[in-house]
Amino acid sequence: RYEQNAELLNRLSECATYFQRQLIEHPHKEKAKSYLAKDRGLSGQIAKVYGLGFAPPGWDNVLKAVGKRAELQEQLLHGGMLIEKKENAGQYYDRFRDRIMFPIRDTRGRVIAFGGRAFGDEKPKYLNSPETPVFHKNLELYGLYEAKQNTTTLDHILVVEGYMDVIVLAQHGVTNSVATLGTSINSQHFKKLFKLVDKVTLCFDGDKAGRAAAIRGLEATLPVIQDGKQVRFLFLPDGEDPDSLIRKIGKDAFLELLDDSSSLAHVLFDHARSLVTLGDEEGEAQFTQHAMSLIQNIPKESTLRSLLVKQLADQSGLSSETLTANAPTPKPLYN
Ligand code: ATP
Ligand code: MN
Ligand code: MN
Ligand code: MN
Repeated sequence: RYEQNAELLNRLSECATYFQRQLIEHPHKEKAKSYLAKDRGLSGQIAKVYGLGFAPPGWDNVLKAVGKRAELQEQLLHGGMLIEKKENAGQYYDRFRDRIMFPIRDTRGRVIAFGGRAFGDEKPKYLNSPETPVFHKNLELYGLYEAKQNTTTLDHILVVEGYMDVIVLAQHGVTNSVATLGTSINSQHFKKLFKLVDKVTLCFDGDKAGRAAAIRGLEATLPVIQDGKQVRFLFLPDGEDPDSLIRKIGKDAFLELLDDSSSLAHVLFDHARSLVTLGDEEGEAQFTQHAMSLIQNIPKESTLRSLLVKQLADQSGLSSETLTANAPTPKPLYN
């Protein structure tokens, strides 16, 4: 198993090198270079830091460049780089074609998967490697290795939605961001982050999906938050993502927004409030129940939990004991 995975990692690293080289020597390299430089405003230097590459058009580029022998092709298949033909078992074609390639590295810097972005409006906009023996997207965070490498004192991590957000932030000097890989941030992600830093800020797009993702992030962090750890939320202006925003307002204004981010308590109470449908005392009861149902997912021994119950007690005029006694059984959360 271990040796098989090591071989697989070798193939993925060769793929990364191949994709990077196509930006320099492929006949259609100008299309890819101009997409990165002109359309997305990336410097050659930042493209290098993140190992960006170009998967040329065609069905058998990776197949021929990296998988000359049957044994190698088999490894590429297990690494998610090839797809088996439906009508011809044992015959393969390239998964990634005519895309900008983002190597996904593990915390040791080894390439374990790829994301590929279409140039135009082709669907899907982003194509990711499937789950493989070396890639579990529920555990990995894009850009974590690079953030560790390029941030002198890494004590705060920003979680954003996309590859481009991570890279454009880094180009502007904000090197401490990571992205989830087409999934929501979950409790395992938080555990991994809390091992490295004490402060995590969730920074999702200023659209409906981004706001929903922030709430799922709130739910995912509650069971794993500990005293000494801080989770904050930055809600971006409508229609903006970190990439578009920092290009518009610059690093300093972006960092000021970060300073103004919302606390976990604020977001939790706001969210509980937003679920209320009734007016008057019934509404207050509803709010209190929603808030308690969230708070109860925080570990019992955490001071934060006691503080939130205390805040709710002050707001509602009920005692902490009454709140705790009347609290609903916690609902299963997203985590
Ligand atoms: P860009 O700026 O290149 O248009 P984005 O990162 O702003 O892309 P979003 O639509 O905000 O794109 O999506 C955020 C992230 O969600 C992407 O970076 C990608 O990881 C993932 N994603 C988006 N669309 C898809 C898709 N069709 N399939 C899988 N993952 C996707
Ligand atoms: Mn979005
Ligand atoms: Mn974007
Ligand atoms: Mn976006």
